Amino acid sequence: MSPTEPIEPTGPPDPDAAPAADALLRVRGLQKSFGANQVLQSIDLTVSRGHVLALIGPSGSGKTTILRCLNGLELADGGTIELADELSVDFTTAPGKKQLAALRDRSAMVFQHYNLFPHKTVLENVLEGPVMVQRRPKDEVTAEALALLDRVGLSSKRDSYPFELSGGQQQRVGIVRALALRPKLLLFDEPTSSLDPELVGDVLRLIKELALEGWSMVIVTHELEFAREVATTVAFVDGGRIVEHGDPKQVLRHPKEERTRQFLHRLL
Ligand code: ADP
Repeated sequence: MSPTEPIEPTGPPDPDAAPAADALLRVRGLQKSFGANQVLQSIDLTVSRGHVLALIGPSGSGKTTILRCLNGLELADGGTIELADELSVDFTTAPGKKQLAALRDRSAMVFQHYNLFPHKTVLENVLEGPVMVQRRPKDEVTAEALALLDRVGLSSKRDSYPFELSGGQQQRVGIVRALALRPKLLLFDEPTSSLDPELVGDVLRLIKELALEGWSMVIVTHELEFAREVATTVAFVDGGRIVEHGDPKQVLRHPKEERTRQFLHRLL
């Protein structure tokens, strides 16, 4: 398998396919509180294989927390996360370590602030998860990592440190690092919001290419035009709930809910 191909190539999404039948990710009743602050009320969402879900909504509405719960970086307090008919984690009872590890293993996060290890080179950053956590053979992972770095135009930076790279280059390394984990699901948390405007386009183009290749993704973004182009579904999150979701053109151009209208109006 080429490292640049998705684990399960699906081709373009079939609009007639019943989404539930081909669901990769199914979340039901997800809840999360920080102390007395209930940040996620009861989140239901489904992502079919090869589909892209964009989460939009005001700052503080819970979008990042949804991603972090999907990746097991935060432990949800209630609800279930099912992935690819092979993993079902029930948060109403504390899930076991193995289940959480499996959840972490099947998704990979691309962070707003890149979160690269500052004292590791680009290549070491990419190898860390697959070799140290997934315990895959270093030779095999190195070959994949170099091919991925080549693909994003960064093979010449393999021995550079993050501080020697531009924000756009660091974020491309962040994306390569996620791909090298061979996840089922890619999670992007505002991947371009730390970038200078002239660097945003390259990163968005790369994400769009990955979407066209059939990677399944959840993306938190403020780039509404990008969401309209790339997403299969847009969900508007407010107050820890999904207020409305649907076809990007419908949600972004003709929202049904007043709260969505107000949010979009403020951005225009
Ligand atoms: P968004 O991504 O939509 O901006 P977040 O998911 O980051 O929203 O945050 C939702 C709410 O949860 C905010 O009120 C935020 O302050 C709170 N929150 C997020 N992470 C933590 C944490 N680790 N500890 C306490 N509160 C948190």
